[in-house]
Amino acid sequence: MRAAILLAVAAVAGVAALSAHAQARPLRPADAALLKRAATPEELVAQAVAKRLTRLTPTVRCGPLGVSAPPGMLVTGVTLLPPHGPADYFLLLPQECNYLSWFRQSPERYDPGTCTDDACLQLASKAALALATVSHESYHVLGYRLEKQVECYGMQSIWFVATSLGASVAEGQRIAGFYWKTIYAERRQTTPSYWSADCRDGGKYDLRPASHNWPS
Ligand SMILES: [Zn+2]
Repeated sequence: MRAAILLAVAAVAGVAALSAHAQARPLRPADAALLKRAATPEELVAQAVAKRLTRLTPTVRCGPLGVSAPPGMLVTGVTLLPPHGPADYFLLLPQECNYLSWFRQSPERYDPGTCTDDACLQLASKAALALATVSHESYHVLGYRLEKQVECYGMQSIWFVATSLGASVAEGQRIAGFYWKTIYAERRQTTPSYWSADCRDGGKYDLRPASHNWPS
């Protein structure tokens, strides 16, 4: 397990140049067509998970996000903020939606704890990012706006997204731990507004201070 984690850090460092994060932006008239069309099976999967997590009924669509990012940055999701009232929509990159669907088909394939090579870890990393994007955007839908808080809360719900898509609790916790040690750790350098020293076991953003099973 220790060797696997060290390997994971090495593998994810390789993709660190492409730092992924999720944003929020105003809802625009140009979004109407995408939000109005019937949901695809992938979108229904994402919507069902977001509904379970938020206990609200957000609309989720997979498509162009309508945001620009600096070179080397990848925005994986965006929550659309209406002029008044709570956000009720989020968009995911099509590749994130694909990973959600693939994950649901065979969750065990994306368990970083079973990886013995880089290719497996890269796949686990991509799936973890897709799960984390859903939980991140869900916290925006719940009304949170501060990115470092949203990202920390989202990470603590990766296990929930994973188990909603059929993973065991143990696998969900391994994926969350993997995300914490790799993608989240990189944020301090690559996307510092999404990182906080208060995001740790017992820190200000710990949603379950009585539990030490961080970050799940
Ligand atoms: Zn965000």
